[in-house]
Amino acid sequence: MVTSLNEDNESVTVEWIENGDTKGKEIDLESIFALNPDEKIAPSPETPPPPTTTCVKVNKIAKVKRRNAYFFFCSMAARRKSNCVLEVEKLQEKRERRRFQQQELRVKRAQEVDTTIPNYEIMYMIRDFRASLDYRPLTTADLIEEHRICVCVRKRPLNKKELSMKDLDVITIPSKNVVMVHEPKQKVDLTRYLENQTFRFDYAFDDSTANEMVYKFTARPLVETIFERGMATCFAYGQTGSGKTHTMGGDFSGKNQDCSKGIYALAARDVFLMLKKPNYKKLDLQVYATFFEIYSGKVFDLLNRKAKLRVLEDGKQQVQVVGLQEKEVKCTEDVLKLIEVGNSCRTSGQTSANAHSSRSHAVFQIILRRKGKMHGKFSLIDLAGNERGADTSSADRQTRLEGAEINKSLLALKECIRALGRNQPHTPFRASKLTQVLRDSFIGENSRTCMIATISPGMTSCENTLNTLRYANRVKELTVDPNLVMEGGRPNIHAVNQLDLLDEDWLSISPQRDDLKLLCEQNEEEVSPQLFTFHEAVSQLVEMEEQVLEDHKAVFQQESIRWLEDERVLIQMTEEVDYDVESYATQLEQILDQKIEILTELRDKVKSFRSALQQEEQASKQISPKKPRGL
Ligand code: ADP
Ligand code: MG
Repeated sequence: MVTSLNEDNESVTVEWIENGDTKGKEIDLESIFALNPDEKIAPSPETPPPPTTTCVKVNKIAKVKRRNAYFFFCSMAARRKSNCVLEVEKLQEKRERRRFQQQELRVKRAQEVDTTIPNYEIMYMIRDFRASLDYRPLTTADLIEEHRICVCVRKRPLNKKELSMKDLDVITIPSKNVVMVHEPKQKVDLTRYLENQTFRFDYAFDDSTANEMVYKFTARPLVETIFERGMATCFAYGQTGSGKTHTMGGDFSGKNQDCSKGIYALAARDVFLMLKKPNYKKLDLQVYATFFEIYSGKVFDLLNRKAKLRVLEDGKQQVQVVGLQEKEVKCTEDVLKLIEVGNSCRTSGQTSANAHSSRSHAVFQIILRRKGKMHGKFSLIDLAGNERGADTSSADRQTRLEGAEINKSLLALKECIRALGRNQPHTPFRASKLTQVLRDSFIGENSRTCMIATISPGMTSCENTLNTLRYANRVKELTVDPNLVMEGGRPNIHAVNQLDLLDEDWLSISPQRDDLKLLCEQNEEEVSPQLFTFHEAVSQLVEMEEQVLEDHKAVFQQESIRWLEDERVLIQMTEEVDYDVESYATQLEQILDQKIEILTELRDKVKSFRSALQQEEQASKQISPKKPRGL
């Protein structure tokens, strides 16, 4: 019986019973192998036999009193070799195994290659790239940092339509603040390759992140701001269908939206929780909510049957949305009800929720008041689809005007946030209705903002996604260029301007136009001179439209009624037998003069309005098809 294996001198100890006594000795392995030429016993590194118990002859003399000893060949054969040899063999073995696995993978892939997947090469490239990454996604345990301006990105999962089209997911979020876009490209020789672009933000949320978690890192820290007498804004920015409404308004399950899961409601919930804290309880604050939308530069109240509202600015640059309904809310349920009312008002009569919302900004505000006076305000904004900003050269005027307003408002928003980050004194807030109504939130030391850029993961959205990421990147790039810090001064615009096209008065007096000019200077790369001229034409058009409508209403509702009454009295007078002819003629002439004067004024306004419409059309045709970079 083999009782032990002695690796030092490559021998075994054997024991046997002889005449009732246990005897033992050491035999070197060489002798054992020599005594057992059987190939099952001979060491063979290539194919070691399975570990079974084997009978082995251990002594030549023992032929007389032959004894068999048992030992495990396997361990013997392996261990008798030197360590060095073993190492080399191990490596070799590993290599073999790897080769084998790769071969298997290739075979599997070859079988897997589904020619119905339009971009399988790209898919494998992305898969290989991802395999090489070390993933460290954001977790609830991560620190929530304090940011005055916070910019983050949220990727949504591929949706049913994209999955059925076999669209590829080209976005990877390897860590808590990095987004990678794998952009498929083609060389001159037609071989395809990936261009991997990396962006860094304050946070990056991958497609498995729920609203509650996004909220925790974005809007949640801003709830505190409004209790500390500050102004807060939180924007969802991105292409239509990228998840803005899902993030702000709440999850959809089928066609029904669960608005309790959206950032609007989550923020409201925390406002009511904060209100109970001793520090704030003693302030005796009231909570109000407003909900409105900005569509084509016009404001509509979603809590008041979409009433069209006017935006006015007083001498102290305080902006007022005249008549906007502020509803008092006492608990989260009240807020949820308001959101539902607003949402149904927003989409009523629409064929699809996205058809309209892609062209309008929705603003939901939570306002804290103390004895009627504003204490803090939180504006949560579901922005129009950023791809709509490129509609400025559409053949349809309405689409063009909507596109112009979106393009302008998103550029203005970016500049206002950048100015907030730099404490820059002048912001081009008048360049768009959106920035005008949010003006008070972009000034003041206690203002904070957060932008959630939502992106679609599909390859088909790659270009829009890159535009969204570039825009978000510009918002937070906070290096101060000393040439850009202006103390209210306005440098000259280099644009070639077709000034003769536009109304002189409007050009010289409009603060809107000044801000538009500033905005275009700040975005020279994205706004061509032609686009600037177009924006001017549109802004002028929108202002003129307002004026014409206002004057027309005044004539129709007030003057006409007065004239009617005056003339009735006059005609009645002539029915008297001895009426004063002289007086009649004088009065009639007076009435007619007044009518003519007022109507001529209105007619002239309509005339210039009509020519403004034509100018807008001409200007739109001259826009070069240059792609805006930041949009
Ligand atoms: P947007 O408002 O940007 O146009 P939506 O929020 O309406 O886009 O989203 C488009 C679709 O994608 C909706 O059906 C929505 O439910 C779905 N979706 C968006 N984001 C997510 C997400 N993070 N997880 C799951 N589904 C999402
Ligand atoms: Mg939406």
